[in-house]
Amino acid sequence: MGRTIGIDLGTTNSCVSCIIDEERVVIPNAEGSRTTPSVVAITDDGEELVGQVAKRQAQTNAKNTVFAVKRLIGRRFDAPDVAQARRSVPYDIVEGPNGDAWVELQGKEMSPQEVSALILKEMREIAEDHLGEEIEDAIITVPAYFNDAQRQATKDAGRIAGLTVSRIVNEPTAAALAYGLGEQGSGAMKVAVYDLGGGTFDISILEMTEGVFSVLSTSGDTFLGGEDFDNAIIDWLADDFEMEHGVDLREDRMALQRLKEEAEQAKCELSSAEEVEINIPFVYTPEEGEGPLHIEKTLTRSKLEELVDHLIERSLDPCRTALQDANLRRSDVDEVLLVGGMTRMPRVQQRVGEFFDKQVDTSVNPDEVVSIGAAIQGGIIGGELTDVLLLDVTPLTLGVETAGGVFTPLIERNTTVPCSHTEIFSTSVDNQTMVPIHVLQGERSMAKDNKSLARFELTGIPPSPRGVPKIAVTFQINENGMVTVSARDQATGQEQSVNVVADGGLSDDDIEQIVKEAQAKQEEDQRRKETIEMRNQAEGLLYSTERSFDMYGEELPPDEYEEMAEDIAAIKELLDDASLEELETICTTLEAAAHRLSEAMYDAVEGAGADAPAEGDEAVADDV
Ligand code: AMP
Repeated sequence: MGRTIGIDLGTTNSCVSCIIDEERVVIPNAEGSRTTPSVVAITDDGEELVGQVAKRQAQTNAKNTVFAVKRLIGRRFDAPDVAQARRSVPYDIVEGPNGDAWVELQGKEMSPQEVSALILKEMREIAEDHLGEEIEDAIITVPAYFNDAQRQATKDAGRIAGLTVSRIVNEPTAAALAYGLGEQGSGAMKVAVYDLGGGTFDISILEMTEGVFSVLSTSGDTFLGGEDFDNAIIDWLADDFEMEHGVDLREDRMALQRLKEEAEQAKCELSSAEEVEINIPFVYTPEEGEGPLHIEKTLTRSKLEELVDHLIERSLDPCRTALQDANLRRSDVDEVLLVGGMTRMPRVQQRVGEFFDKQVDTSVNPDEVVSIGAAIQGGIIGGELTDVLLLDVTPLTLGVETAGGVFTPLIERNTTVPCSHTEIFSTSVDNQTMVPIHVLQGERSMAKDNKSLARFELTGIPPSPRGVPKIAVTFQINENGMVTVSARDQATGQEQSVNVVADGGLSDDDIEQIVKEAQAKQEEDQRRKETIEMRNQAEGLLYSTERSFDMYGEELPPDEYEEMAEDIAAIKELLDDASLEELETICTTLEAAAHRLSEAMYDAVEGAGADAPAEGDEAVADDV
C-alpha cells in the first residue's frame, strides 16, 4: 500500500494532508492555498472548473456553479434539508432517477457523488503534484451525524475519483486526533468539538478512553456558517449604499460578487486587525446622472462583532442541546476544540470559551485540523504512526441467541460505527409461527454468559417445515451507539424491531473484564458451542432421515430395515445428552443411513421403470 492521504471534504472548503517522515503536512494547492473551495462549475463552453477558479466566476455563472453539495450527498430529494437548500441556492437541485437529490449543470443531471468526486480528484491531484507520486489510498472525513447512506455516498465519490477509501472518519474525531488527544496514556476525557465552517455549524461531544473515541451526542445547524457573517457585512454595505444612491447592489450580480469577495476578506482581516478599509471602486455605474459609484468605508472589529453577535449566539443553542443529549453539564467537558475557519474570529473564541467556561484550544489551524486528523488516521492504518489507537467503535460484540442457547455474533467488537449487518436465520422446528429474537452483547460463545439487551418476537410466520422460513435479522448502529435490531420474514414482509443502547451502563473496566473473562473461558466455551452446533446438525439429519425412512424404508431388506429403525430410536434416546464425540458418531451414522435410503429410493424408482430426474430439475435444499 502506498501513501494514504487525508481529505477533509468540506461544505465550503476542502483540505488535503499526509504524513511524511512522521510529520503532518498540509498540502498547498497550485495557488499556494492550503484549502481549496468545494466549488464545481461548468462554463458555457462545457469546461469543468473546480476550486478557486470555479468560486471566482460563481456570481456570473450562478446557475452552473455548485457549492455546498455536501448538504445533498446521500439525501433523498424530498428530505427537509434538501427543500431548504433548494430555496437558498441559485443552481437547480433535481430529483435523480433513484429518488435522491441531484443537481443540474448546463442541462446535465449529476449526482452529488459525481460532483464531490470532481473535488476529491482535485485534492488527489494537488497531493500528487506536490508529492510527485501517484496516490490511490485516502481517508475521507464526514460529519459525525452522517448516516449510513451519506457515508456510503461519500465513499462512492472517492471511488469515482479513483481513490480507495480505506476509512470514513468522523470530523470531530479527526480533530481530536490532530489535537493529540488519541495518544496512548492520555486518560479518559470528554471533548466538545465546536466546528463553525463556511456554511454549516456542528457541535459534537466525544468521549475518549484509552484512545478509543465514541460520539456521545451531536447537534448543529446546517444553515449557519461564515457565509452568514459575510452577508451581514454585505447588508451593512449595501443598505448604506442604497440609502445614499437609491440602488440595491444585491440585485446586481457583478456588484454582488465583488461585495462578497470584499466582505469575506474584511471579515478575515478583522481576526487580526482592529479595523479595515473596504474599497470597492466602480462598484456601480448608473445609466444616467452621476458617474461611476464607489464604496469606501471603514469597518472596525467591534462594529463587525455588533453585526454578527446574533449569529454567534445562535450557535450556542445547539451546544446546549448537545450537552443535554449527552447528559453532561458544561463543567463535565474537559477540552474544547475549535474547528472551521470561522473559529479564527476572536469573538467566536471568546464566546465559546465563556460558554464552556474553559480556555479553548487554538493551537492547530482550525481549517486544517480535520484533514490533519484524517492523515494521522491514514498513518495509523499504514503503520507509519503507532502511538494512536482505534476510532469510533463498538466496544463489545453484538448478536442474537440461536438454537441451543448459542450466541451468534452479527457485529464484532471494535467495528467502526455507524454500521449495519444482516443475516438470514430460520426456524428450528416444524410449523413454528413465532421466532423469539434475543439481542445480546458480549464476547462469550453462549448466550447466557453475555449481557441481555432486549427480547422481542416476530410472529405471523406461515406454518412450514423447519429451516424453510427466511428471517432477515438486521443490526444497525448509528453514530451515537444506538442499536436498532429488526427481524423481517421475507415471505410475508412482517417486521418487528427494537432500539437499544449498545454500550449502556458499561464502564471501560466492565468491558475489559468481559473481554478477559471471554479469553479465559474460550476453550471451554468453544467446546460447548461445537457440541451444540453438532447437536443441531444431528437433529437436522435425524429429522430428514426419519422422513426418508418413513417414505422409503420399506424398500430396504427387512433386516436392514429393522437395524435402521433401532438405530434411529437409539439416536433419539441419546441425542439430548450426547457428548461432542458421540454426536459426531451419530451424525456419521445418520449420514450413512440417509445415503442408504436414497439408494433404496432410486432403486425403487428405477424398479418402477420411471425416468431418472431430468437435467434442470430443481434440487431440494438442505435444511438450514
Ligand atoms: P471552513 O469551512 O472551515 O474552510 O471555513 C471557512 C470559513 O471560515 C469561511 O467563511 C471563511 O471566510 C472563514 N474564515 C477563514 N479564515 C478566517 C479568519 N481568519 N477569520 C474569520 N473567518 C475566517
